Amino acid sequence: MDARSTDDEQPSKKRRARPAFDEPAITVEDARPPASSPQGGGRRGRRSAPPIDEPATEITAIVEGPVHPRYAVSLDEDRIDPDVQKVVRRLVRHGYEAYLVGGCVRDLLLGGKPKDFDVATSARPEQVRELFRNSRVIGRRFRLVHVLFHGGKVIEVATFRRNPNDEVEEGDGTAASLRALGSSAEGGRSGTADPAQLLIRSDNVFGEAHEDASRRDFTINALFYDVEAGQILDWVGGLADIEKRVVNTIGEPHVRFREDPVRILRALKFAGRLDLGIQPEAYDAIVECRGALELAARPRVAEEVLKLLRSGGARRTMFLAWETGVLDVLLPELSALLYDSFQSSSPSSSGERFFRLLEFIDRRTVELGPRDDTVLWTLLLLEPLKEATEGARDRSVAAIEFLDPLLERLAIPRRFADGMRRILAVLPRILSGRAGRFARTELFDLALEVAEADLYARGMSLEPIRALRSTARPAEPSRSTNTGGRGHRPSMHARPRPTPRH
Ligand code: ATP
Ligand code: MG
Repeated sequence: MDARSTDDEQPSKKRRARPAFDEPAITVEDARPPASSPQGGGRRGRRSAPPIDEPATEITAIVEGPVHPRYAVSLDEDRIDPDVQKVVRRLVRHGYEAYLVGGCVRDLLLGGKPKDFDVATSARPEQVRELFRNSRVIGRRFRLVHVLFHGGKVIEVATFRRNPNDEVEEGDGTAASLRALGSSAEGGRSGTADPAQLLIRSDNVFGEAHEDASRRDFTINALFYDVEAGQILDWVGGLADIEKRVVNTIGEPHVRFREDPVRILRALKFAGRLDLGIQPEAYDAIVECRGALELAARPRVAEEVLKLLRSGGARRTMFLAWETGVLDVLLPELSALLYDSFQSSSPSSSGERFFRLLEFIDRRTVELGPRDDTVLWTLLLLEPLKEATEGARDRSVAAIEFLDPLLERLAIPRRFADGMRRILAVLPRILSGRAGRFARTELFDLALEVAEADLYARGMSLEPIRALRSTARPAEPSRSTNTGGRGHRPSMHARPRPTPRH
């Protein structure tokens, strides 16, 4: 089966079920991009979703224009952390502008529950620091303030910034900065300009609220929420794109992707995770600019790959990465395997197993939260790894030979590689229901999860792994290996462990 030809495998082009969020949160009746926006009027969006049919929130345009394009919304206040509301209100009481920004506003509008809340303000870091005793300034290059609450909760407060590549403004609000983005578009699109010149290397120039919106990556990520007034500030047409359920860059997509190629992965991640379409020009630019990912800082790329694997939408996102050719740049070993596999007519090909592995990750993520990073890297590379080590006399050595150039290219920390190699070496034994001394190592839980995923991908029963789990450690309830997305953490065993041997 060619996955590209199936209906549910065309996330950018077709409307599919919306698993990420359970109920629609808004209708946008009057939410048009302001006249100054480059997308205003004739933008042809790819409508990947029909209009949202059950309104939970009415949106009314209050003022349209480049300075204060405000829209009244009634968001569910219960979904907004009370502490973040306190932070915003306190800043406003002291005469500063302060808004909820970024992913939390997007998720609230789409009807989801934000995982964290970010605040943007006109106050400088020192001024924020003065208002909150329980706060600290972090970051050397661009200083942010972390306001600390009980239970380790941190609310990030950032001063408005602008895109350092933008021209100095000419007094008409957003128009100048958006025009500036468009003006370099030709070079960006044709490839005549040196793409490296567009790369943003420093991002620490203070600005105003509308500049802070314009410097952001996608229109849906650039909405500001005024908590007190219950209004959205939208300088970039983000509300309309939320309504259309589409990922769209702010300004010319080639420029924005060349400026920061990691945005390519972010676009795929949001489309995959939130089940959104990608606006056609942005989609084409992703295809055309994908090579620029090689210019991006490798640890950022690796982190973004992990984020998309942790997102609960890994399967859709990876399909998009393959469909757009981004995977050819990122992991050519994997994309080659997919091409070969979907060309053959074998009913259970490695390509299909790969997408089922991702499906397993997504299911577990929804159930239990983000999976352990070692498990994620192992499952991402499991099929190519199996292929590379098949028939090898020493599978461990073959795994190292396969992994080394990959680790180098993606800047994957060595500890993951060691874990992957050891899990891979023990996998056949675990699959045959024997764990031996490995059951007492810190990697045991992770190896069990990889084995379960492998069985799931091959359409086999998971029972042997459940049995192994309960016989190996009957006293301990099954637990998530979730490390909160910060890399491998040893599991907590009830019994003392000898030094791992695998
Ligand atoms: P998530 O729910 O995954 O955290 P998010 O939108 O909050 O999604 P973050 O990575 O936390 O994403 O970034 C916060 C905000 O900062 C984004 O919503 C976006 O406005 C802005 N942003 C992040 N990365 C970039 C980037 N590479 N270029 C421009 N703006 C960015
Ligand atoms: Mg975020």
